Amino acid sequence: MNTNTMIYHCSENALAEAIAFCQQKNYRRFSLVCDTNTSAALGERIGQLFNAQGWAVNSIILGGKEVIADERTLEETLDRSGNDPGVFLAVGSGTLTDITRYCSHKKETAFISLPTAPSVDGFASSIAPIVIKGYKQSVPCQAPMAIFADLQTLCQSPKPMIAAGFGDMLGKYTALADWRLAHIIMGESFQELIAARMEQALHACVENCDEIHRADAQGIRRLMDGLVESGICMALAGNSRPASGSEHHLSHYWEMLLLQQKRPAVLHGVKVGIGTILMARRWEQLRGLPLFEVKRRLASAHIPDAQTEKEAIAAAFPFNPEAIIAGQSVYLSMSETGFAELKESLLQNWRKITKIAASVPVSERIFTLLQDASAPLSVAEIGLGDQDEKNALRYAHYLRSQFTVSKLGRILNLWE
Ligand SMILES: [Zn+2]
Repeated sequence: MNTNTMIYHCSENALAEAIAFCQQKNYRRFSLVCDTNTSAALGERIGQLFNAQGWAVNSIILGGKEVIADERTLEETLDRSGNDPGVFLAVGSGTLTDITRYCSHKKETAFISLPTAPSVDGFASSIAPIVIKGYKQSVPCQAPMAIFADLQTLCQSPKPMIAAGFGDMLGKYTALADWRLAHIIMGESFQELIAARMEQALHACVENCDEIHRADAQGIRRLMDGLVESGICMALAGNSRPASGSEHHLSHYWEMLLLQQKRPAVLHGVKVGIGTILMARRWEQLRGLPLFEVKRRLASAHIPDAQTEKEAIAAAFPFNPEAIIAGQSVYLSMSETGFAELKESLLQNWRKITKIAASVPVSERIFTLLQDASAPLSVAEIGLGDQDEKNALRYAHYLRSQFTVSKLGRILNLWE
């Protein structure tokens, strides 16, 4: 994604700005993708405004109780957009934007994002998470050429969606800590300027949490700015590190579980919020560990047996163990010498690690921030059980190759 050229505008005048943009570009034909809710919230109005310009708008209103970005929906959208779809308009939040991102990319045309709720940080992304054969996969597509966020629509969006967006933002605390940790311990590339940008956006949201919870224009604008900024930071970093870490891995795990059990989806940011409480607790555990205890634990730490690890992965992810095992190759192929060096690095850098741990608020604080937003606070509130939480804490880190606090804690035998 070229972050220099993507236009982002969030205000009460966003729709007028969108029209001016299309006039300037001389766009006259559009495929508007929405569902019944987002059609009522914004889609119909956009259709009328664009029609009044003499422009052709093909409204693709996706039906059903729950719109999922799966093969059936993608096929339907591709089909209904026809041979000459023009510019795609994504009217909705996460899922509808991803459906449009995918379909516009397939049809080799551009798309404009018109968010209806500040619920997720994926608007500016170029990756579309889509469900193929029942499993979510990340497909490289394209970023929108512009995002026009109508502030009034965002302020009127359902409160749980606003709370979810806020949860997705809080996840940046633990994501950034994981990124710094991986940089110090694994030598992973890290850009302080990008981390600082992400932090600034996160702090702006936390400072305005009351305004966000009340759905005041200023608060909602800060939240939307933060969510878009998050997508830009990921694009600048060339990976998801600035915005996604161990808390997102928990969310991915639960999402997979709900999908497999054919149960209703839970908003991404809701799961991330709960994951952030759990991972903040892990960082608290690390912070409280005295150096002599770290030394003692490292002295008795042994390299995990690769075969046992593979068997654990196969048991936890029976549908696709090969891909997950391949993603863990850095750790599974580690030599005794490599493991000894890793332990030495942990010991030498322990002071820095505790500093990183101190950058994560205590779990109680995350809990309160989410509670004030009326967001779910535990897996029980999203229909999952204790075992689902335990399994996620034990296995979710296998879903990505990233080094995180989850992997660190396993070396120290702090948790399973
Ligand atoms: Zn997220």
